[in-house]
Order: sequence, then structure tokens, then C-alpha cells
Amino acid sequence: MIKLRRSAFLKSAALAVCTAGLLVACGGGSDGGGGADDNVWSVGTEPAFPPFESVGEDGELEGFDIDLMTAIGERAGKTVEFDSLPFDGLIPALQGASIDAAISGMTITEERQATVDFSDPYFKAGLAIAVAEGNTEIATLDDLEGQRIAVQIGTTGAETANGVPDATVSTFDSAPLALQELANGNVDAVVNDAPATLDAIATGNIPGITVVGELLTEEFYGIAMPQGSENVEAVNTALAELIEDGTYAEIYRKWFDAEPPEL
Ligand code: GLN
Repeated sequence: MIKLRRSAFLKSAALAVCTAGLLVACGGGSDGGGGADDNVWSVGTEPAFPPFESVGEDGELEGFDIDLMTAIGERAGKTVEFDSLPFDGLIPALQGASIDAAISGMTITEERQATVDFSDPYFKAGLAIAVAEGNTEIATLDDLEGQRIAVQIGTTGAETANGVPDATVSTFDSAPLALQELANGNVDAVVNDAPATLDAIATGNIPGITVVGELLTEEFYGIAMPQGSENVEAVNTALAELIEDGTYAEIYRKWFDAEPPEL
């Protein structure tokens, strides 16, 4: 939390300097976004998506994405400052270059690639359907026809649910809120990233739900950056190094208690 306030402070400080006309080249320095300090990467994330990003008991951000991005920054000689934003606000923030990057379990999609640049893939995921324990009627996407589905706004899960004929889709700001709606019995299913749903079940955060059937999709997460960002190469180089030297595997084991798959 302190970190967030500090980054907000840095931004307003930078703005004050710009307004005073003391600097000619304002607007985030040569890295094309974020703070005025070239050694800092301002990185947006929506921190309600464990185990990728969440707010820990100490009020600090934690998760796979947080550790990975911090390590990437270290490798690239940058200090990473996280900025908590709504998931559907990340791409607009990149387009407006108010952040340098976003790491938020974000799937690399063609549609998003039209507006932002992505790093190389850093995580393999996929969508899964969650239902209430004991529901034997839903096993596939076809079974969702005419059902009530909860999703997180602006996600690939939302897009998939919106394509289901006659379904009533309700959108929530975060995945845990959508899953809670299912646990409360107000919807029949949730379409969400499997690793996030499985984590919610495993940690007992959302009781009484289960994942059904096969994964609906194969998706790869990428770190999003403003289009044409000069940081794409540095991020990719650092990521490749971390995969090569075992740091990536170490972070993966910490959060998933398993060996990482080939990307
Ligand atoms: N991977 C999904 C997407 O990119 C969900 C991400 C999220 O909820 N943080 O849309």
C-alpha cells in the first residue's frame, strides 16, 4: 500500500515539475510512459487474481506475476513500481502511456495486440468452467447454453461467455467476486482462468465449487507494453535469462508447487 501511494506521489511530483515548465521533455521520459525516472518501470496490475497478483496480509502485493516482474526489472536494471488498476483499465493506461507495462495474468490475444505490444509468453493457462459442487448438468461449453454465467469484466472468460447462446452473463470487477456469486448460488457457472479458479478452490477462499471438464482454451500470458515501447526487447531478454538460469522455475515452484511446463 505504501508503494502505491509512493508511485502516485512520484507521478504528481513529476506532473508538478512538468507544469512548472522546468523540463522540456516531459511525459514519462524516453521509456515512453510511467514516471519521469528512466530507472523506474511503472507496472500496472489488478491485484485480485491470486496466485498471480493479490494483496498479502502485510498489505504488500504478492504473487507469481509480482515476483517475476520484479526479477525482470532487476535483470534489466530497473526498479519496478506497481500501480493497482482495474483489469479493464490496464490497456487504456498503456495506450495513454501512464504506465510502462502491465502484468496481470493477461492473455496474449490478437485483439489486444492491435492496441498494445506483448512480451514473449511467460505462462501457459486456459479457461475452465466452474460450477457448484454436485452440479452434474454442466460439463462442456455447450452445456452453458441458456445458463447464468458470472465472469470478470474485460477478460477472455467474459468474451467466451458472451458467445454462449441464450446465456445470461453477469460481469464483476474481479474473478473472486464472480466465483463468490457462484458459491452464493446466484449463477450456474463461472468461466475463468483455470489456475486462478483452482487456486481459489485449493486455498478454501471460495467454498463449495468445483472445476468441470476439459480446459476450454489454451492461452498464454504476456507482459503488455505500449505499442512501439522500447522496453519490449529488454523485458524479453530478461525473461529469457530468468528461464535459462532457473530463476523462473524457482518462482514457478514457489507459487504452483510444480515444475514449469515448456512455454
Ligand atoms: N487471462 C484472462 C484475460 O487476459 C484473465 C486475466 C485476469 O483476470 N487478470 O483476459
